[in-house]
Amino acid sequence: MEIRTVAQSVSTNADILALVADGATEGLWLRAEMQAGGRGRLDRVWESPPGNLYCSTLIRLQPGDPPPPTLALVAGVAVWQAVEMVLPGKARIKWPNDILVGPAKLSGMLLERTGNAVVLGIGLNIMAPPVLPDRATTSLWAHGAVDTDATSMLSTLAEIFAARLSQWRTYGLDPIRTLWLKAAHASGTAIRAHLPDGTELSGHFADLDASGALILDLADGTRRTIHAGDIFLL
Ligand code: ATP
Repeated sequence: MEIRTVAQSVSTNADILALVADGATEGLWLRAEMQAGGRGRLDRVWESPPGNLYCSTLIRLQPGDPPPPTLALVAGVAVWQAVEMVLPGKARIKWPNDILVGPAKLSGMLLERTGNAVVLGIGLNIMAPPVLPDRATTSLWAHGAVDTDATSMLSTLAEIFAARLSQWRTYGLDPIRTLWLKAAHASGTAIRAHLPDGTELSGHFADLDASGALILDLADGTRRTIHAGDIFLL
């Protein structure tokens, strides 16, 4: 494992992606103290003021690995466990891997794949949650974890992520899925889903299937499995 820190980056995911072709190896972490162009899913912006954790790491897929999209759940569980170390009992995972405290977003992740390389980017608000017009945000400090900084958080996270990644490789998604279910919204939580085709669906959280997809119980008694989309907890 190697952790590199720079004062500023446009996007740590873009930086790691640029290193992939040069043969960068798994276990490399890059942290920027701030990002000028932090990205979220679907070209969304990740606000990256100083004081928070902005980092990316590289996973090199190996023959026999579980399906690569399930790394989203590995990442969510690892970040949640790292948060638990400094702020026990407060955070929940929202499918697939947002970390929330109450309704407010503490952390978001972006996974990008090129060939056998998966780049995992993580934004975690430590001191300075941005104020956003359309959603509540929060930070570790806002909940009293004021001894935590980005450096200490990343060393904890890198250890935990390595352990979860190795568990995923050895035992498949199942143990990660079990941890995820303990860390996520409770069964029966009311959810609205915006699907990629533009439709909306409301229901109650039932389960996570063996591939990591979200299973919703709908009002008409049927079940729907959701593989992609935006989820709102009601
Ligand atoms: P969600 O389901 O929460 O909308 P998403 O997967 O679309 O998540 P991400 O890629 O995790 O979103 O993050 C992008 C979104 O997160 C932005 O559109 C914005 O609403 C919010 N956001 C941006 N910067 C921050 C930040 N530093 N802290 C918390 N939320 C942020």
